[in-house]
Amino acid sequence: MPTQKDYTSSYKPTWCPGCGNYSISPATKKAFADLGLEPHQIIMSFGIGCSSNGSNFYNLYSVHGIHGRALPVAVGVKLANQELTVVADSGDGDAYGEGLSHFISTARSDVNITYIVHDNHLYSLTKGQMSPTSLKGMKTKSTPFGSLNESFNPLATAIISGATFVAQGFSGDIPQMTELIKQAIQHKGFALVNILQICPSFNKVNTFDWYKKRIYNVDDNAHNTADKEAALKVALHTNEKLPVGVIYQTEKLTFGEQLPQIEDETLVRQSIDNIDISESLKAYM
Ligand code: SF4
Repeated sequence: MPTQKDYTSSYKPTWCPGCGNYSISPATKKAFADLGLEPHQIIMSFGIGCSSNGSNFYNLYSVHGIHGRALPVAVGVKLANQELTVVADSGDGDAYGEGLSHFISTARSDVNITYIVHDNHLYSLTKGQMSPTSLKGMKTKSTPFGSLNESFNPLATAIISGATFVAQGFSGDIPQMTELIKQAIQHKGFALVNILQICPSFNKVNTFDWYKKRIYNVDDNAHNTADKEAALKVALHTNEKLPVGVIYQTEKLTFGEQLPQIEDETLVRQSIDNIDISESLKAYM
């Protein structure tokens, strides 16, 4: 059985002391280990940001891509090889700003991948500008008089866009994050795990104590995860209380399952062979 060490590279993480990434990363590795996944069975796709620098700190196949593009790479990998466990991993600016259209499209398609989002409410790699999830009124490097925008709601957006597994964790709770990531990987379909992450260097508002006062576990309220309207209600009422746990889960045919060609390599081969590459190239000559 693999252990957390098997997924750990020889590079020492460069995150600031106290960063939430120091707990999200081991929770992810523990989830892999608990599921008995060997490193060669996993591929992680990262965007750009503090959390995406994690690409260097894992010992498995990974892609450190470009801004907002963790999902398109992950989708391509999964559709090409459905045997792999594919995990996309990025921050809130990357996921919900630069990559928002990919987030919505992937949820709509329900491609069978897991998306872990390190949501610290800021663009922290560039030293603390407002991100889509920054709270309205929040003073940041780019909003010195307070953000005028409403905060983006990733949970509600995922549910209404078609995601079939939507969960939220907190970087101060490794055991719960581990369980949520495990369930997300085991889920058949697009699984979002939004993790409320502390960034002690730049986010002086949403601190560990701030979250502890507001977080509640949806399980404590006998929440029915299969009830879409109930899930949406939980996801929308996040002004004063912040839900953690599995908020929504359902099943339907995934994008890959609806593509019979993927199941039949001969058909794929035939369609590739039928493309007249020379004709295609002429258009660019
Ligand atoms: Fe973590 Fe914030 Fe430092 Fe980035 S800037 S490594 S998110 S503490």
